[in-house]
Amino acid sequence: MIHILVVEDEPSLCQLLVNNLGFEGYSVEAVDDGVPALAAHGAHRADLIVLDLMLPQLDGFEVLRTLRDRKDEVPVLLLTARGEETDRVKGLSLGADDYLVKPFSVLELMARVKAILRRTRPVDRPPRLRSGPFQFNLPRLEARRDGRPLELTPREFRLLEILITHAGRTHSRKELLQLAWEPDARPSARTVDVHIANLRRKLGEELGAAWITTVGGEGYRWITPVEPEPSTQAGGWAERVD
Ligand code: CA
Repeated sequence: MIHILVVEDEPSLCQLLVNNLGFEGYSVEAVDDGVPALAAHGAHRADLIVLDLMLPQLDGFEVLRTLRDRKDEVPVLLLTARGEETDRVKGLSLGADDYLVKPFSVLELMARVKAILRRTRPVDRPPRLRSGPFQFNLPRLEARRDGRPLELTPREFRLLEILITHAGRTHSRKELLQLAWEPDARPSARTVDVHIANLRRKLGEELGAAWITTVGGEGYRWITPVEPEPSTQAGGWAERVD
């Protein structure tokens, strides 16, 4: 299991990162300062560290410098304040793998985390899935039905990804809002319904409602079994090289 260490002293952002990374199936540990970060990484080595630069005592630069001085090449994704160009340059020159400028969207963070892990680790989860007539390429944010591409927005794909990677499980509107929208976006539960309606229509007017079921007043669920797609599958889809 991929283990991610989150170092962030802002409690609400920290919790958001922990929830989302945990939901993606990563093992997550969170600390709020540099010294506990180094201790936590020493005790349970992380596969990736999400590292805030501005921390109360030992800042992100010092954590990164300490790691690299120890020849520890653990991938590091820096979280930096808006407009601090020199911080980003300094972070990258110290050996950070990537950075995100606050405020960032959860979608963007998950994409960066996955990109870094793809570069640094073998694939742990099948990137291509199939379910009924649908095929999904998660890293590419692509979905097809009977081989034909579906024109999904990134948000629709994100909703779809949440549902298909947890097929059979019901997701409340609140849960979907938290997982697929930025923390400061504050859309209403109705927004989820609208996006799900659009997604159903794109999946197929006549069958879409059957793929994503509405569960009482609770939320939504993908009901069809989802399985990895064999990489040797014939056709242009599977022949594309990542
Ligand atoms: Ca901070």
